[in-house]
Amino acid sequence: MRKAQARTKAVLAIDGGKPIRKQPLPYGRQQIDQTDIAAVVKALKSDWLTSGPTVAKFESEFAKKMGAAFAVSFCNGTAALHAAMAVAGIGPGDEVIVPAITFIATSNAAIYLGGVPVFADVQPSTLLIDPNEVIKKLTPRTRAIVAVDYAGQPCDYDSLNAIAEKNNLILISDACHAVGAKFRKKSVGSIATLTTFSFHPVKQITTGEGGMVTTNHPELARRLRMFRGHGIGSDFRERFTKGQFTYEMETLGFNYRLTEIQSALGLSQLKRLAHFLKLRKRIAVAYDRAFSKFPAVIPLATSTKVDHAHHLYVIKLNPAAWKVKRDQVLAALRAEGIGANLHYQPIYQHPFYRERGYAPNICPIADREFLTLISLPLHQSMTLKDAKDVVDALLKIYAVYGAES
Ligand SMILES: *Cc1c(COP(=O)(O)O)cnc(C)c1O
Repeated sequence: MRKAQARTKAVLAIDGGKPIRKQPLPYGRQQIDQTDIAAVVKALKSDWLTSGPTVAKFESEFAKKMGAAFAVSFCNGTAALHAAMAVAGIGPGDEVIVPAITFIATSNAAIYLGGVPVFADVQPSTLLIDPNEVIKKLTPRTRAIVAVDYAGQPCDYDSLNAIAEKNNLILISDACHAVGAKFRKKSVGSIATLTTFSFHPVKQITTGEGGMVTTNHPELARRLRMFRGHGIGSDFRERFTKGQFTYEMETLGFNYRLTEIQSALGLSQLKRLAHFLKLRKRIAVAYDRAFSKFPAVIPLATSTKVDHAHHLYVIKLNPAAWKVKRDQVLAALRAEGIGANLHYQPIYQHPFYRERGYAPNICPIADREFLTLISLPLHQSMTLKDAKDVVDALLKIYAVYGAES
């Protein structure tokens, strides 16, 4: 019986067999349509290419969608994080608690300001920052907590808000994975003191490069705008319309502006956000169904309190079910034409952090789970047939690399 099965196994593409897909399927991809293109062309033909009315409109529409009073745009999500940390008052020696598993930009932003990232471990089932681990990492120098809505699932904001309030800390939400996600039916963007977003092409909506910070605090919004524009309290268009020639620089700022062209694309994409979220969910549900019968892979758990934004579909390989390590499965998937990916290596394992004294094993759950992670393709241009290819590829690979095979 076992022999018969062995003979019917398909030869993996990595071993020279025929791949499941000729055209590789990317793990993430933008969806651009004619209305997006028309909006960008219109912006190109207008009087303002930057700092004009479309930037302002994108900000106000985005704020409305996120249920926040203010939204301030940035040239990318990393600049948005830098600004959020700056207006939160992070300075030299201030500790900022961040999850071990997130994109490097989250913790780098604290370092830009002389702050010290302190890594908290994650919950194994969701890979979201574990509030109990946050409590363990509090010191008299702690100034802020960054909640990262990993994969598009909001963190446990009830617990994180309570910890922040009790200890007089600022809660920053890095919702760069989570445009359109909700916690207890409340949009991320109106939960933390400051929330950052990214419009990189793999995120839910894109401006090519782009970012946003939302807040309900007028003073923080004012400081975010200053930080984006050289530390000046007004922008060129405001001064132009008022007939002013001079300006005053109040703080050290940057040029982190988003252009009119990008904002036009963002506004157009924002109109389709709900549709994009539906398309992403459809793929995630198809994966969920397929993997419910396949114990060798364990999808991340989803809380009943959230509306997930499905940025990533992350699986964990059940180590007991495989003869090979994660990297081998990842390589085999790539060979089959499946653009699987990896999000993320615990940040303190990177050489830059190691050289700054971080140990390579600060968060044992993150260290252990990282070795099992794979991100499967998930984006709004995918079809159910694409999702089936991904599942078929995993089954094909399991037939050869599974512990039972
Ligand atoms: C994408 C992302 C960022 C940075 O956004 P960019 O727009 O690429 O600069 C920050 N944090 C997380 C968690 C992200 O996924």
